Amino acid sequence: MSILKQFDPEVAEAIEGELQRQKNGLVMIPSENHASEAVLMAMGTPLSNKYAEGYPGKRYYTGCEFIDKVENLAIKRAKKLFNAEHANVQPNAGSGANMAIYLAMLKFGDKIMGLKLDQGGHLTHGHPVNFSGQLYNFVQYGVNKETELIDMNEVREIALREKPKMIVIGATAYPRIFDFKAFREICDEVGILLLADISHFVGLCISGDHPEPFPYADFVMTTTHKTLRGPRSAIILSKEQHAKAIDKAIFPGTQGGPMEHIIAAKAVCFKEALNPEFKKYAHQIALNAKALAKVLLDEGLRLVSGGTDNHLILIDCRPLKITGRQGSEALAELEIYTNRNTIPFDTGTAFEPSGIRLGTPALTTRGMKEEEMKLIGEMIVSVIKNVEDKNIKKNVKNKVKELTEKYPLYV
Ligand SMILES: *Cc1c(COP(=O)(O)O)cnc(C)c1O
Repeated sequence: MSILKQFDPEVAEAIEGELQRQKNGLVMIPSENHASEAVLMAMGTPLSNKYAEGYPGKRYYTGCEFIDKVENLAIKRAKKLFNAEHANVQPNAGSGANMAIYLAMLKFGDKIMGLKLDQGGHLTHGHPVNFSGQLYNFVQYGVNKETELIDMNEVREIALREKPKMIVIGATAYPRIFDFKAFREICDEVGILLLADISHFVGLCISGDHPEPFPYADFVMTTTHKTLRGPRSAIILSKEQHAKAIDKAIFPGTQGGPMEHIIAAKAVCFKEALNPEFKKYAHQIALNAKALAKVLLDEGLRLVSGGTDNHLILIDCRPLKITGRQGSEALAELEIYTNRNTIPFDTGTAFEPSGIRLGTPALTTRGMKEEEMKLIGEMIVSVIKNVEDKNIKKNVKNKVKELTEKYPLYV
């Protein structure tokens, strides 16, 4: 950092500012986390300099012996971690990884089934502004209006009626469990493929707080920077029979040279996740989310589906007479970071949705437990129930400072 500071003080200062923001704030955006220093270190290495188009042992460039070693380690560890027959560790990000899976298995215009986007699905699960919605014919399933849970009878009916080629499951804002086995049974009945996009709750699949996607899914895609706590990236896991098609769809299908410095960081992150300590960490994420949900409910808030079974919570802000933007911005002012989000059957808009989405992965990384969740839950409720109250704000700001000092980051 000192070389960077000397050469480019403007960039160095912005990086330092971001580091301090993370240290001084409570990061509760459920897709964010704080990667270990070992992971960060692997990313900032000269591996970034190397071109290595192709796969280990089959590169288009010379000088790949160390790169091959790194990528083989990442592959071996990913397969072990997820009990997978095949792993492609080259995807740069989750969105591109989903693109590659569609490209490998489907033709443009083919029908795919995904979760409704305003009910928790991801852009790459068929949103009209995304390539997925433009190149493929998506039909969507949703949650039941009363229970706010995915209705498996509806999923089956739609699948039998529409006969898609693939069902995509996974979400960015669904606080409950995906029943992979039940989805598999529907896919078998229709004779179609199952893609489990476990990007958000991957850590909980490892700790056993969420069912594991294999052997039910044909493909598993996960980002590596969310509950897995690795570098900003993704991987694709699949059954052996699809290995060739997936590899081809990543390179040369959708990517050029792989980011081997990021692959090195993924290898480090998989080593961390294979350690029994990681299971404890990810289990604590789930315990913390439950503890947080309990306080919010006890304080009278309405939570989508009445609580959580994973790492995230959706607060319905309508009874508080504020929007999700107002709530999340009031919290951010006090360095509690959440995000505004649509909730099922939202009466607001995408820009002014009615929900706040928040979760526990990053706080759990700092070592916080149920006791702190109770405190933070009470702080959050006091702020969003009184978004204009200056005394409450001052009080909460002090408590955030106390907590972040007690649970330091990157020391
Ligand atoms: C985060 C996420 C993605 C996309 O990942 P990016 O790396 O941001 O492209 C895809 N699917 C789901 C369910 C996600 O949560």
